[in-house]
Amino acid sequence: MSNLDRRPATRELGGLDGTSAGPALDLLPGKEVLLGESTRVRRLLPTLGRRLVGAWAFVDHYGPDDVAAGAGMQVPPHPHTGLQTVSWLLEGSVHHRDSLGSDVTFGPQELPLMTAGLGIAHSEQSPVSHPRFLHGVQLWVVLPDAVRDMAPTFEHHAALPGFTSDGLSATVLVGELGGARSPATAHTPLVGADLELIAGSDVELPLDPDFEYAVLASAGAAEVEGAPLTTGAMLYLGTGRRTLRVRGGTTADGRPTRLMLLGGEPFDERIVMWWNFVGRSGEEIADYAEQWNGESDRFGAVVGYDGARLEAPPLPPVPLKARGRQQ
Ligand code: MN
Repeated sequence: MSNLDRRPATRELGGLDGTSAGPALDLLPGKEVLLGESTRVRRLLPTLGRRLVGAWAFVDHYGPDDVAAGAGMQVPPHPHTGLQTVSWLLEGSVHHRDSLGSDVTFGPQELPLMTAGLGIAHSEQSPVSHPRFLHGVQLWVVLPDAVRDMAPTFEHHAALPGFTSDGLSATVLVGELGGARSPATAHTPLVGADLELIAGSDVELPLDPDFEYAVLASAGAAEVEGAPLTTGAMLYLGTGRRTLRVRGGTTADGRPTRLMLLGGEPFDERIVMWWNFVGRSGEEIADYAEQWNGESDRFGAVVGYDGARLEAPPLPPVPLKARGRQQ
């Protein structure tokens, strides 16, 4: 999915001033955001209190939405720079097209990973014939300076590694957890994993003490290090943890609890995030917007999409300045 906000806020991210020096248990309740005319999502990152968890810079949780009678997800072609999009469905299916010519329909437990690099455009739509419910998590990962101008790539991982133990079934999207390593390309030390927990399960996960972590309840409730976590909320866990104790709670429909564990080495570079772009300065972001609206070759064209593309909204009047440890 995309940032469809017509008046997007400028986010200044990076630097280590937001990183907890040790373990934390900060509840991020998220904020409801309206995308387009009818889609409501819960935005967990960036929020007022927290902007990054490792290189994870954007977390939207949506659904479950009953889309049986409607068109479902309909996101017209739009651009990205300087980031990777990690799309994760719990229910439903989405048709992805991009300016590299990728044309893929994916469902639950599959990972489409798009690396924007210097620029890419894509569209995302529920297929005409789609499952009744749409439920998922949209994540962005910031690219470090050394690779942010790389040529764009798209990977589709239909089978991901994982492990099971004591009522837990883990799927590793990115990085490594419990000895299972994802084939997805990451450019900073990072982990993203889906945890499915049956009610009453009680497990201890191995963590990297150099990473900072957060855990999102995407379905059902859980107890994380003794703290209750309800559906749609996220807990920031800080750094310095070698293990994480998680207990599965109950869900309204009797299905297992689903959590998304996100972690990574704290991201020390100063970046600017605006609309669907990540850059290093306001000038760079303004250039991206002008080039997208001017149909520059930078982003290419999404072939096969029937309809208009999303124009970049007007830039905010104040210059977009990168901010880090030192202002
Ligand atoms: Mn997008």
